[in-house]
Amino acid sequence: MSHQAANSGKNLLGKSPEELREFLQAIGEPAYRAAQIYHALYRERRFDFAAMTNLPAALRERLAREASIEMPRIVRRHLSSDGTVRYVLSIGDAANGAKPATIEAVFMPEESRQTICISTQAGCAVDCRFCLTATLGLMRNLTAGEIVGEVLVALEDNRAALKPQTNIVLMGQGEPLLNYDAVMAALRILLDQKGVAIAPRHAALSTSGIIPGIERLAHEKVRPNLAISLNASSNEQRDQVMPINRKYPLEKLLEACRKYPLKPREWLLFEYVMLGGFNDSPEDARRVVKLLANVRAKVNLIPWNPGDLPLKRPERARVEEFQRVLMEKGVPCFIRDSRGQDVMAACGQLALAEAGASPAVESHA
Ligand code: SAH
Ligand code: SF4
Repeated sequence: MSHQAANSGKNLLGKSPEELREFLQAIGEPAYRAAQIYHALYRERRFDFAAMTNLPAALRERLAREASIEMPRIVRRHLSSDGTVRYVLSIGDAANGAKPATIEAVFMPEESRQTICISTQAGCAVDCRFCLTATLGLMRNLTAGEIVGEVLVALEDNRAALKPQTNIVLMGQGEPLLNYDAVMAALRILLDQKGVAIAPRHAALSTSGIIPGIERLAHEKVRPNLAISLNASSNEQRDQVMPINRKYPLEKLLEACRKYPLKPREWLLFEYVMLGGFNDSPEDARRVVKLLANVRAKVNLIPWNPGDLPLKRPERARVEEFQRVLMEKGVPCFIRDSRGQDVMAACGQLALAEAGASPAVESHA
């Protein structure tokens, strides 16, 4: 399989159980050690071979010499007044042939759980007009190890304060379905109860509407909840803010959604970024109701988070009116105010922060 070939190096982070077995066999160690390393690395979060006390000392020493665990490095922590932490992470190492890049992940503590928002690419090629990540363009895809590493770093950095439940959302930089193999390889480890052990129902993947990726995801045995960035009520409107709509227009996208096999209590989540005076009228709301007919859907309204772009935040009354129209027609609809706004950790803002355009932020690095 392609991701196995891509994952044949000596960095063990991101390797599946089979890949770990292959690695051990290649260096002449018994394959059963793979399960022990897998457990120590992903379940116990031991990022240093010396700390893998479930392995014999000789093997620990050998691994320290002949293998590595390349975790993303924390460059900066930005702490928000609401408790949200935005991490600036550095990945890649020219010495190993992985292009260095900077990405971001966000840790959001709540009363009984934490939610971790992760990136799947450095930058993004999709070019949505309202999103600051788009201004970066695509630097590169992340590897499975880098994606898993974001979650492990955020968990470990908050070890003392962790709540029993962890949610992950693939809503940071990048379009996850345009880096399909690495994203799925990472999810298989993150959602494996022997691995990082996040419950699949506590994971969500958000896409701008890459239809072939949605069709592939439909066939996966273990998969996260699917969220679709709708963001407009007609093709004409969506073409303007999401150029990808010309390739995957609304009718085709919604057809793929209707075909998506949902389990009994599963829903598709539609995200709708509200842009003041553009897509926030009651007529828009009524068109959205029509679009979502025959889809088991929930809608999240996300008031647009300002950046350096010529767009407007919607008025609160418009957002509430929009919600009322959907609810009256039986479409569950929630208003999602982004967290961590004061440290540029909110939806779509991650790119702005490191470009030097952000206001003074508290740094705890
Ligand atoms: N590329 C994927 C996932 C990352 S973006 C996607 O587009 O779905 C995650 C969500 O943030 C998307 O729903 C996107 O529409 C939204 N978003 C982007 N920029 C935003 C902004 N400035 N304010 C509010 N939401 C934004
Ligand atoms: Fe990429 Fe999503 Fe931003 Fe669009 S909204 S540019 S797909 S990250």
